[in-house]
Amino acid sequence: MDINNISVATTALILREYGIDDVANDILRLFGCDIPFEKDMSDIAKKAQRIASGFGDTVDGKEVQPLCHIAGYLSKNKEKYFLAPKIMDANKNSFLQTAPSKEEIKKHLKNMTNAISMMNTNQDKAILLEDLDSLLESYTGCVGATSDIPLYEHIRQSSAIATALWIYQKADDKASASPFLFVQGDFFGIQKFIFASSVEHNKKMAQILRGKSAGVTLLSELCALALIEQLGLSPFSLSRNAAGKFVVIVPNTLQVIEHLNIFKHSVHEWFLQNFYGEFGIALSWCEASEEELGINPIASSNIKNFFARANLGLELEKASKFNLLNTKEHIFYGYTEEIQKTGVCPACERRAKTTELCHVCSAFKELGSKLADAKNSILYIYKSTKAFAPFGYSWSFADEKEKKLVRRWDISLPDKNGTIPNIKARRTLRAYIPYAQTFEDIAAKSTGVDALAAIKADVDNLGELFARRIHGENIAPMSKTTALSHQINRFFTHRLPFLLSSTNEPIYTVFAGGDDLFLIGAWDSVLKFAETLKAEFDDYFLSPKTNLSFSAGVMMFKSGVPVPHIAHAAEEALEAAKGVDGKGAICIFDEAVRFDDFVVLSNFSAEVEIARKELGLHTSYLRNALYYADEAKKSKTDIYATKWSAHFRYQSARNVIDKAKHEREKAQNFVEKLGAAITLHTSAVKIALIPILYKERTKS
Ligand SMILES: [Zn+2]
Repeated sequence: MDINNISVATTALILREYGIDDVANDILRLFGCDIPFEKDMSDIAKKAQRIASGFGDTVDGKEVQPLCHIAGYLSKNKEKYFLAPKIMDANKNSFLQTAPSKEEIKKHLKNMTNAISMMNTNQDKAILLEDLDSLLESYTGCVGATSDIPLYEHIRQSSAIATALWIYQKADDKASASPFLFVQGDFFGIQKFIFASSVEHNKKMAQILRGKSAGVTLLSELCALALIEQLGLSPFSLSRNAAGKFVVIVPNTLQVIEHLNIFKHSVHEWFLQNFYGEFGIALSWCEASEEELGINPIASSNIKNFFARANLGLELEKASKFNLLNTKEHIFYGYTEEIQKTGVCPACERRAKTTELCHVCSAFKELGSKLADAKNSILYIYKSTKAFAPFGYSWSFADEKEKKLVRRWDISLPDKNGTIPNIKARRTLRAYIPYAQTFEDIAAKSTGVDALAAIKADVDNLGELFARRIHGENIAPMSKTTALSHQINRFFTHRLPFLLSSTNEPIYTVFAGGDDLFLIGAWDSVLKFAETLKAEFDDYFLSPKTNLSFSAGVMMFKSGVPVPHIAHAAEEALEAAKGVDGKGAICIFDEAVRFDDFVVLSNFSAEVEIARKELGLHTSYLRNALYYADEAKKSKTDIYATKWSAHFRYQSARNVIDKAKHEREKAQNFVEKLGAAITLHTSAVKIALIPILYKERTKS
């Protein structure tokens, strides 16, 4: 039997058990599956469901449930917030305090039948299955299989488990009594991969950067795809895949293990040949029993348990990169000869040039420039034997009928209404980039000084959050943790590009996905966007009620500064922000403060700007205020520095109050406020004052 049918059957059986028969029947018709299935299929689907949802949950007497938002199970006071039953989009989450009725939910799910009727059946089953995945995510991601497991995750994890279980049960070369192998892939050296580039090549960097940033996702996708194809599994066997990390559930048979070893070797070879071992995808696997797969991957602290074992395996794999000690072949054979013949590529300064650049940089530059054009919304993946064919595939934005099509991905961004198309398989390769294409153009859009700012941000304490909030209450099954990581990933891949494009900001997305982002833009736009980001994140995850927060590092620089340096500096700023007690902080102008203080200081900055105009404050007065701010900080440990306050008052009286004439009262109020801000925030007052000074500098 076609292995994809197990995913189709499991999906349909689950939908039927939940009373969504119409949709189940439509799906079976779409795939031309016979009803009834092979006899033991429904037993396997039942078993898979029990494993996917964790042994603690009962799976009998099923009915679709109102789904609690992740805030519901992260909530400090256990308040419940329900998701509205509607198709997935990039708009704000609509939280309901009262649960939607079962009728509303069923009505919403019934609409799936219309969408299914629009799907193109005339294609390969694996491609059709990925299309179905997109539809399922859109419709069943917001309703519950249990109150806190989205039906979508339940279907996907159950399908992955059912496929592995089916093959394992029929195999006569079982490797052990544990039916599964939990395979993890992890792209290591992502920063190096994206930023490895020449100082000289900054002007053309934007395109290569964009191409390589999408390349992280694309290479991980292609690697997972190759793994699934070579093991003869279904697209639903891929349990999760985001930001360079993936998990595949495979059957534990001797043949599969042999294939995995061969596959791992080929992945090593490919990265060694094309990237000289600077980065790669680490692959590790670990046996898992039915019980072990039902346990939350991140939560358990018990070193003896399965996931600690699995993650240790992955770490060891990353530490022993490429198994070089046991590699006989010499990969640098002929390297110098090749470089001498054509010269070194000016972008990466690693490989020999083939044209203006090397074959790898050309490929990613082309990808970057094609991604900049919104018309290129479908990416076609073909089998390929070309010189640069990652894991045996090539990509194109054109439907080339003569080639063997393997996958077809919709990579469009949400439209201006936040709508996300859902009848073709979606991948989040594309990120928002502004109309201006080079960093120089973007810098030119800033106010005052011609400068850029980079912002690097990621979610705080994610591992701990999984552990404390979920594991604390019950065993958190895979479906639940995967749902949480998907939810967080969606903020960075759906909501973020939508926000950037709807405000048309001159901000370039270097990468965004998983639980982090890295943006470069006109300096004043980035500062403003940092506030938006905070407000939107809180809104999306109901942050005041949960423990979910993020931290950010911001770095300002001139457009000529090499991007790798900027990335490094922004990373250091992010580290400084993470050092703030309680996190949820931002580091900007070398000042690390809680985000709440950052918002207060940004508002204060606007007040100072108004006062500056009304009272005709001199630049030198604001510069002196920066000095006093530093002194105020010093005064906490240095008694002599406390005199800043007297000096500040004297200066303010002479230069502001005395000169104000008719506006004397206004001037007095302003000086009081500034003095109070310096006392309270000390050196962090820079966050309010420096932007004003920068805005007034003339363009160079
Ligand atoms: Zn190159």
